[in-house]
Amino acid sequence: MSKNEIPYKIYLEESEMPKSWYNLRADMKNKPAPLLHPGTHQPLKLEELTPIFCEELAKQELDDKTPYIEIPEDIRNFYKMYRPSPLVRAYCLEQQLGTPAKIYYKFEGNNTSGSHKLNSAIAQAYYAKKQGLKGVTTETGAGQWGTALSMACSYFGLDCQVYMVKVSYEQKPFRREVMRTYGAKVTPSPSNTTKVGRAILEQFPGTTGSLGCAISEAVEAATSQEGYRYVLGSVLAQVLLHQSVIGLETMTALDKYGVKPDMIIGCAGGGSNLGGLIAPFMGRKLRGEADYQIIAVEPASCPSFTRGIYAYDFCDTGHVCPLAKMYTLGSEFIPSANHAGGLRYHGLSSVLSQLYDDKLMEARSVEQTSVFKAAEQFARIEGILPAPESAHAIRVAIDEALKCKETGEEKTIVFGLTGTGYFDLVAYQKFNDGEMNDYIPTDADLKKGFDTIPRFPGNLE
Ligand SMILES: *Cc1c(COP(=O)(O)O)cnc(C)c1O
Repeated sequence: MSKNEIPYKIYLEESEMPKSWYNLRADMKNKPAPLLHPGTHQPLKLEELTPIFCEELAKQELDDKTPYIEIPEDIRNFYKMYRPSPLVRAYCLEQQLGTPAKIYYKFEGNNTSGSHKLNSAIAQAYYAKKQGLKGVTTETGAGQWGTALSMACSYFGLDCQVYMVKVSYEQKPFRREVMRTYGAKVTPSPSNTTKVGRAILEQFPGTTGSLGCAISEAVEAATSQEGYRYVLGSVLAQVLLHQSVIGLETMTALDKYGVKPDMIIGCAGGGSNLGGLIAPFMGRKLRGEADYQIIAVEPASCPSFTRGIYAYDFCDTGHVCPLAKMYTLGSEFIPSANHAGGLRYHGLSSVLSQLYDDKLMEARSVEQTSVFKAAEQFARIEGILPAPESAHAIRVAIDEALKCKETGEEKTIVFGLTGTGYFDLVAYQKFNDGEMNDYIPTDADLKKGFDTIPRFPGNLE
């Protein structure tokens, strides 16, 4: 196929959008390990999940058999307002790099929340509404998930209570105001609105909060109010399921033009965008229909895949959530304070962790100054100001394209551009001022985190 036949942007027709999500677990021979009860260490049953999670979402969480799950029409209609998202051929970047590689990126930043998180937020809000709930609670760190959820809740007329890590609440007032504009109640965490928040405030007066603490508050808020449930924006299998729209659209668009990717690259925080992007491709790979090189990219300062341990661990520092088996750095691992590039979660989705352990995908870690260099280069030549998280994938896509330049290979590279970076300008400022540096945790730093992974028969003992 000649260059001119492939447009810069491959849009799909509305009629070509997926009507079902694809549940990758159905095609996995080695299923991801089940969530365990943190007290009994037994696999969680539906009735243990439903007091915390919406019923339909809990069912999706436990379903590792059904390959296709229909997307309800109300969700499809919402998707149509900002999807299909474009798959862009990065002709300008290719030319600048002088590479024979062909580079495509799937851009998920075309909505007010600025990221892919809306794909799952709208699904989760829909099921909460359908169950007749009054509202949902959640935590947010930097605010992308909270923003997406506020948009989704306002659309369905649900109450949305967001516990926002106090330091972000104070330092990132703009995301907070977007959430409030969509009607969410945003509380800086720790707060005196929950028992756990009050206890933490008493023990550590003046604390600026943490994601783990915000999760504990959000869970307590959900279980102590009639008609509320707790929702989560990444890591869980249900979130990867909803995010499969990214991969399904990408596959349809590439198939339409007869393009076969050699390599699929995505950034990995909790694993939801990567899990969604690769889902249908990994499905083909698992069924033996095609082969792809799949690469997860993570920060060198939070290297869950490349240096973590595969074990059951707590999903939160407050230890109120179920145990998940995953590549983890330990729930009390905290990346260095100078880390500005996002993707700071200590573990990775059980689905991706199993695939990685089965050597069906690879992982790379990259240092943040090189990530921001890639972000700058991409912004200047392709126009889009990327989120720092997304720039991890850009870094590896550029590196791989440069390798092709050396070897003369015409590889087709697809990467996920998860969002825009307008709310990350403090990080860009650090980079522009030459004040950004790299910190790679030492083995001793990592050991402190590993020591917080629970030990019980069958888990690290
Ligand atoms: C939240 C976020 C990520 C990382 O989360 P995953 O669940 O790993 O996808 C990546 N990019 C952007 C823009 C985000 O907001």
